[in-house]
Amino acid sequence: MASSRHSGGSVIDVAASGRAYVDAPAVVDTSVAIGLEQMLAAREQRAARQIAALTRFDRPLVSITVVTPGAVKDGPLPRRVLSEALRAMDVMCRIRRWSVLSREVSWLGTGPEALYAVEVASWRLKSAAVKLEDRHPLGRLWDLDVIAPGQRVLSRKQLGLPARACLVCDRPAFECGRSRRHPLTELMDAIDRIVKEHDRRLRG
Ligand SMILES: [Zn+2]
Repeated sequence: MASSRHSGGSVIDVAASGRAYVDAPAVVDTSVAIGLEQMLAAREQRAARQIAALTRFDRPLVSITVVTPGAVKDGPLPRRVLSEALRAMDVMCRIRRWSVLSREVSWLGTGPEALYAVEVASWRLKSAAVKLEDRHPLGRLWDLDVIAPGQRVLSRKQLGLPARACLVCDRPAFECGRSRRHPLTELMDAIDRIVKEHDRRLRG
């Protein structure tokens, strides 16, 4: 999806201009298997966008991606999960009166993602991002990476917090990911449960 940038640090949404900005664009069929090479290329492009934003704003960034185990990275579900992350980020920044200098949303075949540049101290941003990941009902399905000027990625460990837990068991997520402890179906079931639980709460 082509991006359009405004000058002067205005808030932008790359793909969804003309729509309510938390909504993902209409989905035709985006459930396509993505290979390792495409994922690596997407990671490189993400890093390039981060460097560009750090260069331009010299403020901490939140890079948002969706947890999508398996080869399909895009589709109605990941788009919805990202839209909820955007909504939560927007509300958080508004409540805390943090200026959002830039807000780029990219709806990609390799998975939807977003990049915020925020006028606040890096550690306050990291701490708030961790709270969203830990407390929002869909937060376990988000990766909110906080990157400080100088390309320093802030970690939970540096805040004295434990690593994120696996979606399925209580072990640290990176351990289960590395050892491929859980079959894909088990991970997808866990995601399905989290989303259904969220929907149930919304219906009250
Ligand atoms: Zn696990």
